[in-house]
Amino acid sequence: GAKPSGPAANASLFGASRRVAVRVPVPVDSLYDYAVPPELEPLAAGDLVRVPLGKRVELGVVWGEGAADVPETKLRPIQERVDAPPMTQPLRDLVDWCAAYTLAPAGQVLRMALSVPEALDPPRPRTGYTPQVADLAETTLRVTEARQKVLEAARRWPPSEPPPTAADLARRAGVGAAVIKGLAQGGALAAVPVVEDPVIAAPDPHRAGPTLSPDQAYAADALRASARAGFSVTLLEGVTGSGKTEVYFEAIAEALAQGRQALVLLPEIALTARWPDRFQQRFGAPPAPWHSDLPRAQRRDIWRAVAFGRVPVVVGARSALFLPFPDLGLIVVDEEHDSAFKQDEGVPYNARDMAVVRARAGDLAVVLASATPSLETVLNARAGRYEHLPLPERHGGATLPAPGLVDLRAHPPEKWDRQGVPAPSFLAPPLLDAMAETLRNREQTLLFLNRRGYAPLTLCRACGHRLQCPNCSTWLVEHRHRRVLQCHHCDYRTPMPERCPSCDTPDSLAPCGPGVERLAEEVAARFPQARLVVAASDTLIGPTAAAELVERIEQGAVDIIVGTQVMAKGHHFPLLTLVGVVDADLGLAGGDLRAAERTFQLLHQVAGRAGRAQRPGRVLMQTTDPEHPVMQALAANDPERFLSVEAETRRALMMPPFGRLVALIVSGLDESAVSAAGKALARCAPSAEDMEVLGPAPAPLAVLRRQHRHRLLLKAARTVRVQPLVRDWLAAAVLPPGVRVKVDVDPYAF
Ligand code: ADP
Ligand code: ZN
Repeated sequence: GAKPSGPAANASLFGASRRVAVRVPVPVDSLYDYAVPPELEPLAAGDLVRVPLGKRVELGVVWGEGAADVPETKLRPIQERVDAPPMTQPLRDLVDWCAAYTLAPAGQVLRMALSVPEALDPPRPRTGYTPQVADLAETTLRVTEARQKVLEAARRWPPSEPPPTAADLARRAGVGAAVIKGLAQGGALAAVPVVEDPVIAAPDPHRAGPTLSPDQAYAADALRASARAGFSVTLLEGVTGSGKTEVYFEAIAEALAQGRQALVLLPEIALTARWPDRFQQRFGAPPAPWHSDLPRAQRRDIWRAVAFGRVPVVVGARSALFLPFPDLGLIVVDEEHDSAFKQDEGVPYNARDMAVVRARAGDLAVVLASATPSLETVLNARAGRYEHLPLPERHGGATLPAPGLVDLRAHPPEKWDRQGVPAPSFLAPPLLDAMAETLRNREQTLLFLNRRGYAPLTLCRACGHRLQCPNCSTWLVEHRHRRVLQCHHCDYRTPMPERCPSCDTPDSLAPCGPGVERLAEEVAARFPQARLVVAASDTLIGPTAAAELVERIEQGAVDIIVGTQVMAKGHHFPLLTLVGVVDADLGLAGGDLRAAERTFQLLHQVAGRAGRAQRPGRVLMQTTDPEHPVMQALAANDPERFLSVEAETRRALMMPPFGRLVALIVSGLDESAVSAAGKALARCAPSAEDMEVLGPAPAPLAVLRRQHRHRLLLKAARTVRVQPLVRDWLAAAVLPPGVRVKVDVDPYAF
């Protein structure tokens, strides 16, 4: 260690200096002890500080009293205290809890909570100008009309506003900016630093919302009560359009009325551009957004404003959970079942679950909203751990259509004519008939196909070669309008080859199966008069593209939408009366144990797009397996029934939520080292009652970005505390170099 110097050395002259434990945002678990220079006292847990760490200076958070086992002479002093509100106890608890649960280093979790470290720097001042004289005659400056105008403008600047910049003054006086410089040099104006934080408009909790139906009013009252009453978790369950958003708006109003903040977590924030509009209509001011696509400067401003208590409501992606709210009063997790809340990179955590942890630490209420709640949440509600508020009906009497199943074996699609060549079809006659009828009625159709691009697979007709990603164990997806083949996992792109890369036959490569682009080609040929749009994440580029499309659809400027899951959520289209699911079996094929749940949730949600407002809707799902329990539950419009069947399957296998699961992903560039590491881990696997270790086996994506991946699964009864077992396990394993092990507690897919 470095020699103590300055304050620490001084402090030790007067006996033992006080020491504190500091957490720093680097990927380690341990706390570091530092001496507290007397001039920084009083220093308390939660205070933000800068500390020397090796040769660097790091931002850190005081976590508690220091341990006594670092010798006084080795102790380095805290360098400075950062002038910002302390990190609250609930947020510190969340960091510790999240680290202990996910087995990620606590410092790495802290880094998520200090995501914009420069937000703590004092805001950079700009220069403002204040008048120093009443008249130019008091200076040696030559009197000109321009100078007089500027001085006048400066003298008349409202004292309630921050001093004007040179540009402000020049504009007000109608002169060039050089005039201001001259006046400052001549002593007529003084240049002063001005620190300004952006103004955040405050939502008004007392504005009236819509008149609620009796069911809605009952739920809203219950949520308002829980927003006043400390820790609770409430499942707000209701079909799409039942008014869940209106109801939880009431809970937000309650939190705001108490002077506390509210956080709303949404999946895929960029695609729910409508949500802030609705919020603004209800509360008269927009919420602060928080997601990874925000420009850094805006993230900085928002983080800072949250820390200083100037932001009443944030709507954000999962990472918003780690924002430094001074007094958070409510968390809403909308679409709580969505897999987007599970983070896979970095710290693997589920924001829905961590929201509950944060709420418990901060003694506040959580609302989990969904039309298709996760099995985990439903079982928590059934067991009485969560409150349950159902909203049984769609608002305004709109009915939720029961989907019809189109058996593709009984109704095979008929080829269509593509410039004299018969082309394969992906639309069965019953769906085509319904589309034609919808078009005649001047209503809209959504064709749902959760596959971007033109074709999910390209193969050679001569030799059967399939075009694969060189970095991943996946097929390359053709994007015809961009003339490229693309990997949807690592983003590898290559121009569409003219010849088969394997047998060199020219013009032999053929698309296999449909993506939205290819489906749109068929729709355009069959309904040439229809106004058609393709909506996928890669056709809606930019922050406003999705909102613009939504507006066009609402205005009736589109007849048929061919869309991926970007169209599945949250939109209300009054003219949309037909939803066609092109391949309902897609999510089930080769899937993991969660595939059925995921497919049910997605398709049930898509079906909810049909028939809002006054027009009844219709949903047709094309399947080759209409007897499948998922298809049967969809057709019966019965989430309860689906969940009961699903629960029995999981219980029989002791899979989550009936058992605990931890995935260990072993990865590395060298396949044999990865395989050896997997086997080594298996050899020293923990053995205890009520648990077993499965694998190693190739992970679901066996090669990803050139990394070979093997997986082991630890499966245990719910009574087993898995974290200490896994910690010891990893400590005992001797792994070859170049191999990494990633731990995923509660993996989403299994
Ligand atoms: P959900 O979140 O369950 O999908 P929303 O809250 O988005 O439902 O409500 C669906 C639509 O119905 C929205 O346009 C909403 O403004 C409207 N709505 C819901 N409840 C009412 C109500 N009580 N009065 C007026 N409009 C309502
Ligand atoms: Zn790839």
